[in-house]
Amino acid sequence: MASRCSSSTIASAGAPRVLFVTLGCAKNEVDTDRMRARLLRAGFSAAEDAPDADVAIVNTCSFLASATQESVEVTLELAEASSEGVRSRPIVMCGCVPSRYGDDLPSELPEVSAFVRAEDEDGIVGVVSSVLGLEDVIVAPQDEGVLRTVEGASAFVKISEGCDRFCTFCAIPYIRGRYRSRAAEDVVGEVRSLMEGGVREVVLIGQDTGVWGRDLEGDQTLAGLLRRVARAVRPYGGWIRVLYLQPEGMTDELIATIRDVDEVLPYIDIPIQHCSARVLSSMGRSGSPEELRALFARLRKEIPGMVLRTTGMAGFPGETDEEAAELYDFIQEEEFDYTSVFSYSQEEGTRAAAMGDQVDEGVKLERTQRLVDLTEQLGFSATSSHVGERVRVIVDGVEEGADGPELIGHAWFQAPDSDGAVHLAAGEAAVGDVVEVDLVDSFCYELIGELAGGEA
Ligand code: SF4
Repeated sequence: MASRCSSSTIASAGAPRVLFVTLGCAKNEVDTDRMRARLLRAGFSAAEDAPDADVAIVNTCSFLASATQESVEVTLELAEASSEGVRSRPIVMCGCVPSRYGDDLPSELPEVSAFVRAEDEDGIVGVVSSVLGLEDVIVAPQDEGVLRTVEGASAFVKISEGCDRFCTFCAIPYIRGRYRSRAAEDVVGEVRSLMEGGVREVVLIGQDTGVWGRDLEGDQTLAGLLRRVARAVRPYGGWIRVLYLQPEGMTDELIATIRDVDEVLPYIDIPIQHCSARVLSSMGRSGSPEELRALFARLRKEIPGMVLRTTGMAGFPGETDEEAAELYDFIQEEEFDYTSVFSYSQEEGTRAAAMGDQVDEGVKLERTQRLVDLTEQLGFSATSSHVGERVRVIVDGVEEGADGPELIGHAWFQAPDSDGAVHLAAGEAAVGDVVEVDLVDSFCYELIGELAGGEA
């Protein structure tokens, strides 16, 4: 049994309510979910909104300077609401901002009661208990089983932490540390438990998923992990999606696994960042336009009908007009279904930040906008190409549409929270259902669907 105070002890004092605010990427969503699960097991409850909360946890992002700024602004807004409110509410700042700027923060943000680095989030129960003065009442439960509180039919699952690549523009290895693969048994155990709880899609994430297993004993590879996860989702008719595969990670074994294992979606996310060999080398990445072209041609040949997602960066230090045009032409030629475009951001402590040939801000924005315009054109066209198909759709939620409430879901070719959605008339299905849908129309990245008849 977990050693913790009995829930009756907490209940008698009123279960303290925790507000969770998550900024940044899906990896942070998973971390918040794990903290939430730990706190709920310890007897805390989740607050619906700020005025209800006894304590607020802000899980921050520091990938870019703009994300750090947003994290601080959100924290300060909560602090302000707290001081203006009926009662004050302590704020705990977690995740990437404390990991990156830990030692400087207590003096710079006196409004925050405690800072928890990403690597220390397992101790969240002790921290929250302490800021509420309940450390003698609440004892953190020992970890037992899987720590998730997922609602709905789609869940992100982390397979690794950190990154060893040290791309010259990126602060992640300094924030999240060196690459650590999560044990296969842990990943499979979490997936199985999620499936038992009603999840039907697992999205495997990490900073660099292709190298999973390299630091583990034995000859472990992502392809092998996918085959094990596929066995876990098969009895439930589940899907597996993998994000963040670096080009070098696309081994023969992995390509064959994506092609041959039905549960693994032919949805391939390879962030290229750039195609010019000179820019890639300056970014601390390998590759050339020829190598990338050969890789995508091979993927198209071996995995017919696949969907391709990528990421491109505009305005890296030293990028010339010709190199910017080279990236534009490359993306146009490859006709990626989905592309995230970033404008280079000079991140403190990275090697690229110290490069002397920073691109003028106006030029950077112009190049970024050109890429965004192109990728929207390609993305809208890829989306409309699905009109007329009958697909399985996972229903994610309800939203207010132009004609009243509607259901929002996503199909196999749409990664949740990234690639647009399928819209269905409200009442046709419930959140968490997996339904057969006829796609009848599209607008931008969105598709309109009609229920084809019953749950899939
Ligand atoms: S692969 Fe490069 S860009 Fe991605 S997290 Fe690692 S260092 Fe950053």
